[in-house]
Amino acid sequence: MSEHIEYIELRFTDLLGNLKAMIVPCEPAETIEQLKEDPVLEKGSSCDGSSVTGLASVESSDLRLYPDVSSLIELPYSIYRTAAVMCYVKPKMASKEDKDFFPLDARGVLQNVYDTILQDLTFKVKTEPEFHLITRDGAPYDFGGYADTYPQNPGADILLEISSAIRELGINPRVIHHEVGKSQQEVEIDFEDARKMADYLVLFKNLARTIARNYDADVTFMPKPFENDAGNGLHCHIQLWKDGTNLFGKDDGDYLSDKGRSFVAGLLKHAPAITAIANPTINSYKRLVPHHEAPVYVSWGFRNRTVLIRVPLFNTAKKAAVEFRSADPMSNPYLLFSALIACGIDGMKNKLQPPEPRSENIFDYDEEELAKLGISTLPTTLGEALDYLEKDKVIIDALGKPIIDSYLRLKRKEWEHYTSHVITQWEWETYC
Ligand code: GLU
Ligand code: MG
Repeated sequence: MSEHIEYIELRFTDLLGNLKAMIVPCEPAETIEQLKEDPVLEKGSSCDGSSVTGLASVESSDLRLYPDVSSLIELPYSIYRTAAVMCYVKPKMASKEDKDFFPLDARGVLQNVYDTILQDLTFKVKTEPEFHLITRDGAPYDFGGYADTYPQNPGADILLEISSAIRELGINPRVIHHEVGKSQQEVEIDFEDARKMADYLVLFKNLARTIARNYDADVTFMPKPFENDAGNGLHCHIQLWKDGTNLFGKDDGDYLSDKGRSFVAGLLKHAPAITAIANPTINSYKRLVPHHEAPVYVSWGFRNRTVLIRVPLFNTAKKAAVEFRSADPMSNPYLLFSALIACGIDGMKNKLQPPEPRSENIFDYDEEELAKLGISTLPTTLGEALDYLEKDKVIIDALGKPIIDSYLRLKRKEWEHYTSHVITQWEWETYC
């Protein structure tokens, strides 16, 4: 381990939310506080946008990374003491103070959604990233089940190390446990401003993989790694605050305020289009099937785990929240939170009313009963979800046409490649 911090990773994500970095040497610093004065944090670094997925634009591919100093940390698990900072990606000629953001930078897009849509509101989110521990050749790491500990959960040490690493960085895990699926784990991350939470999720996923590899294991955030077993969700518990008041709470306890109900109605109205962002892979749609606690139907209810939006039990107005259950951990969190904000606020602005909350297990209904109750199904493929996104004016206006066009182009290519070119093992087994 070097004595001083000698490098800074200037970090950003591609359009899919994958972590990227340019490493820049800095003046040797003993502490993060001291490093804050380093000229690198002022100047940033250049970056070739044309080589980063989804970042190439016709106008400019010469981009610059501008560090957001509030996100500066020292990285655990590095032989050389290294700092890391999340950056805004901007056109090369923009100045640091320039308020204009690069329209293909998802982190900039989320900040812009804050500035233009949320304004004086704060969107807080608690997330539940689920993932599978696997061996280096992709087999399950263990065969434990819900809340199993040693010896059924041999990955417990890896989990604790991941959790300690994020705690060192100021991220608060609330609960860490083995999930229902074989070798499936969950680390719940406490409520935080969505801009910070998006950074945390990018960091968390990167650290989880790095640490697992030290144990000769790996982590996958694939939504459905194993057939007929639980998939990986990224449940998002949402709160909206204004001047110290949780707008979803009602004075008299466990009820959702009118604003909260309209927010839910907005999410339900746009749910099919949100799905293209919340469930961005071909594999995502193999998770959105009945009986594995993942949502299938556009629905909501109190406590009910079979619906898309659950209102969990809370006992004071301050704790009121709504849980959006369809997202999975392959989603780009900056785009996901931007879309949730845009659609929820659309519901509030238009005072939308949600349908009747459901308290029963809606997986018990057949298609006819669902139709009678007016309950529709979430898109069942990536292709279908993209069609909804392409038509959703609220999301396009909020996130901007450039980033949605770039996303649609990328994802349509993936969908077309899979459906028209990929030959799977299943096809060999079924048709050979
Ligand atoms: N693994 C489930 C999913 O795919 C969620 C289980 C739970 O309720 O935490 O969403
Ligand atoms: Mg879970």
